[in-house]
Amino acid sequence: MRIALLAPPWLPVPPHGYGGIESVVDLLARQLVAEGHDVTLFAAPGSRSTARLRTLLAETHPDEIGASMYESDHVARAREWVEVARAIGRPFDVIHDHSGFTAVAFANLFGAPVVHTLHGPFTARTSEIYARHGHKATLVAISQAQVRSAPAPIRIDAVVPNPVMVEHWPLRVRKEDYVLWMGRMDPVKGPDVAVAAARRAGRRLVLAGPVQPGQETFFRERIAPHVDGDRVRYVGEVAGTRRIDLFANAAALLMPVRWAEPFGMVMVEALACGTPVVAFAQGATQEVVLPGVNGFLVADEVEMADALGGLDQLDPLACRASVQERYDVSVVTSAYVDVYRRARAAASPPDPDPGPAAELMLALGPEA
Ligand code: UDP
Repeated sequence: MRIALLAPPWLPVPPHGYGGIESVVDLLARQLVAEGHDVTLFAAPGSRSTARLRTLLAETHPDEIGASMYESDHVARAREWVEVARAIGRPFDVIHDHSGFTAVAFANLFGAPVVHTLHGPFTARTSEIYARHGHKATLVAISQAQVRSAPAPIRIDAVVPNPVMVEHWPLRVRKEDYVLWMGRMDPVKGPDVAVAAARRAGRRLVLAGPVQPGQETFFRERIAPHVDGDRVRYVGEVAGTRRIDLFANAAALLMPVRWAEPFGMVMVEALACGTPVVAFAQGATQEVVLPGVNGFLVADEVEMADALGGLDQLDPLACRASVQERYDVSVVTSAYVDVYRRARAAASPPDPDPGPAAELMLALGPEA
């Protein structure tokens, strides 16, 4: 199939460190190419891929995530390329959007079916957008919990979880004595709860992740005072082998989330390394964590601390197997290809007249 993947404009694909959506897009692009599909990836500058790459904006915008000026520019430029592809007789079969809200709102103007992955939770504001515009795209949720949280008028067409490339992560059976929290320093991810639970259990804690704009006060007031370089270490944003080793050597990953977690990439990354997950039963944690097999689900920091006493019952091999079967990139990519086929089959035949804008671009000599 000819597939256009539309990444968000904020960070490169793959991300240098933090970046759940960018990581999903990277894995999917590479697997689709490996399976023989013709894939064009529209992404932020600095991206790398085995897919044909089109970078749209001049810069990344890591500190302005969500700014409509950049998102609309990014999406409009991608749409122009889609139009050019159609004008030169090489139309895309499907556009797979991961970029935010603009592409959904204008999905009916792409001239090709748009599949949109829902990467965030349904809030009052996002629900309104999806209720108004969601029918223009094929909407894909990333967990059953996310589907259950969708308000009534929103029709979810498929559930495809996020992928992890299991073979990329080392299975480590012997663990060190620390527990790990990894994520953005946002109260919804509960790094402060992780500190309280680890302290209560008498375990060393490593915190890793960026302090993004708007999170400085929370970090300064609720996290920094506990960081002592020994019982609680903060290692900042991590990438590469440092990130892999942190996941692989940890006795457990703590996931004390205060929101209905839509998916939680850090959980599947930890599990791929044979590292169990102790999570609050919120959103998708209830699907990823199989209690007593690859981790524990708990209600609060007291239960979280208690659960850390039971880590010996969990087998690292079972942790890895639990993600291999359900979330490996090969499994997830097959599910997406099914969604693409259905979206293509449901779409009306393309308009044979590409229109004046495409003719103009064709005259300018775009690359195929
Ligand atoms: N991450 C990273 N370095 C860090 C912190 C996070 O590479 O210092 C990665 C992490 O491994 C995961 C992603 O950023 O792949 C975060 O995705 P997740 O779904 O867990 O969180 P969200 O997208 O909700 O912020």
